[in-house]
Formats: sequence, C-alpha cells, structure tokens
Amino acid sequence: MTLKKNTDREKTLERREYHTSSNGLFFEVKNRLFKQESLYQRIEVFENEHFGRVLLLDDLVQTTEKDEFFYHEMLVHPAFLVLPSAHHLLVIGGGDGGALKEILRYPVESVCLVEIDPLVIEVSQEYFPWLSACLKDRRTELVISDGREFIQKTNRKFDIICIDSSDPVGPSAWLHEKDFFSRLKECLCDEGIIVAQAGSPFYRMDLIKKKNDFLKSLFKIVSFYMSPVPTYPGGSWAFVYLSDRVQPLKIKGSPPAGLRYFNPDIHRAAFSLPEFFKNKLDESGHDKARM
Ligand code: SAM
Repeated sequence: MTLKKNTDREKTLERREYHTSSNGLFFEVKNRLFKQESLYQRIEVFENEHFGRVLLLDDLVQTTEKDEFFYHEMLVHPAFLVLPSAHHLLVIGGGDGGALKEILRYPVESVCLVEIDPLVIEVSQEYFPWLSACLKDRRTELVISDGREFIQKTNRKFDIICIDSSDPVGPSAWLHEKDFFSRLKECLCDEGIIVAQAGSPFYRMDLIKKKNDFLKSLFKIVSFYMSPVPTYPGGSWAFVYLSDRVQPLKIKGSPPAGLRYFNPDIHRAAFSLPEFFKNKLDESGHDKARM
C-alpha cells in the first residue's frame, strides 16, 4: 500500500464538518497532505494554520495537532489515577497512537492495541510521528483486527481497557453496542476498569442515554465524565467509566509529569455532570421532550 503525497497549496480550500444540517466546524486547508479510501473508511490529512495537522476519517475530525491532548489525556489518565497498579492494557481503535502515548507514560508491562485499519497506522506514522512513535515501543503489541473479532476470540484478561473508537458509524458502529460491552466485560480482570469515548453531550444525549441504560445492566459502576475537546462537535466530549469494584473518585495514584490538561482537580470536576446531562440520564421513558 503506497502513500500518495499531494502538496499543492490550494489556497482557499475549506473542509467542513457538519454537526447538524445548519451548523458545524470549518478549517481552511493550508496544505493538503493525504487523501485515500481504505477498505474501511476515507482517510484524510491536511494542515490548518491554527490546528496544525488534522486527521479526518469519513469527513469527521479524529485528532488535531493542537488539541489532541484534551481527548487523549482524558481517555487514559482518570483510570490510572484510581488503578495505578495496572499492568496489562487493551486499546481498541486508537490507530493514531495518541491514547497509547499517554498509557506508556506509566510503568505498564504490556499494551495490546487492536486497530482495524492498517492504513490509519501508516498515515499516523507518516504525518503524526509525535503521536505514533509509541507504536514501536517494546511494550506495545499491535494487532490489526476488528475489535469485535478480537474480543470474541481472546481469553486474555486486562486491568484497563480503553475504547478509542470513532463515531457509531461504519466499522466502529458495533463498538457502541450492548453485545460488545457485554463481551468486553469477560476480558476484564475483577478489579478492572473500562473507559470509552461516549460522544457529544451537546448533540447526542440520546445516544449517551441509550448507552447508559444498557451499561447499567452490565456494570455495577457506570460513571460518565466530560472534557472540553475544541474540535469535536459542541466543543465538549463525554467518556464513560465502567467497573464492578473500583470507584472513580477513590484516588490512589498521581498523574505523571508533563501533562497539559489532566490533574486530580480536573478528574474530580470531570465526573461532576451538568443538570441537562444528569436529567437526561435520570429520564424515564415518558418525558422525551428534554434535550
Ligand atoms: N478520538 C477519535 C474519536 O473520538 O472519534 C477516535 C480516534 S481513533 C483514530 C479511531 C480508530 O478506531 C480509527 O483508527 C478506526 O480505524 C478504528 N476503528 C474503527 N472501528 C474499529 C473496529 N471495529 N475495530 C478496531 N478499530 C476500529
């Protein structure tokens, strides 16, 4: 598979991500670096004056040079703050390497990263080397597979499992379903934690509510938390923390040095949800009207 480079300066080219039919986010493209259809999705990389390099999958922002740390630090560090002794980890998705980079700040023994699309890894190694270098770390086991098939076949158990999937469309759709989380639980150690990206609290509380309802039937502890992510729809993102034994606010560890967003105060604040979020989760079937 060869990488085709296209470096023409196309002055006024603009990339737009629609969050609804009438609004969204735009980027002026300073340099178009890569665009190709893989077996699973359209992969695109361009340069923007403010956000630097931007990775799109199927026209949706996955990560940008300027704000990736918000998302990756908030996906990874909350679990380590309450389970600092974690040794063996599983990441499903995450082919850009951002979550792995945060995980390898800790003295873990092994991280198994299961990514469906090898072209995402190649593109990240070419255009996001500061994120993807850790894919070559001796503690990293890279598995090119559908996360669904991997968890159905494996009999391994993990201390922390991070679901760094894309949106619930295309190859990633199944990674947001009950069956996936039910099978995933069998890959978790008794004292284990699962963290997963859970979508836009501003635009998709309906999906977060649906997830909350089925996750509560699978796990004793289901806690959503939030973080700003400037280039994600609505500028903020939800994550979900799942465990049967480890409480999310029982801090036992301390974050590594060099982080740019996460700290123990942010951790506590992130699990304090706004009223609209709590109301939606508490909503029973009949009062559908609210956000
Ligand atoms: N932070 C991003 C977000 O929240 O939208 C996710 C970034 S990461 C690049 C998403 C990765 O999940 C992509 O590389 C994609 O190829 C991978 N992926 C999608 N479906 C998958 C599946 N079924 N199994 C494994 N990896 C999958």
